[in-house]
Amino acid sequence: MTECNQEERKNNCTCTYDCHRRGKCCECVEYHLSMNQLPGCVFAKISKEAERSYNRNFEYFANLVLRK
Ligand code: SF4
Repeated sequence: MTECNQEERKNNCTCTYDCHRRGKCCECVEYHLSMNQLPGCVFAKISKEAERSYNRNFEYFANLVLRK
């Protein structure tokens, strides 16, 4: 099993929200999925503006993908 390197994850995180879960990707995914959301890094893949909107909803992501 691969060990989680939280410090490395933290440095590579593309979410711009100031958050205590940064680098703890398992907690990050669990937190957002519990609210029918996706993590910020998923939105950052589409656009910086989308990530900075802090709208993490599934529907918003689906619309972003369909608009591309
Ligand atoms: S995506 Fe959400 S949980 Fe993850 S670091 Fe950003 S604000 Fe925190």
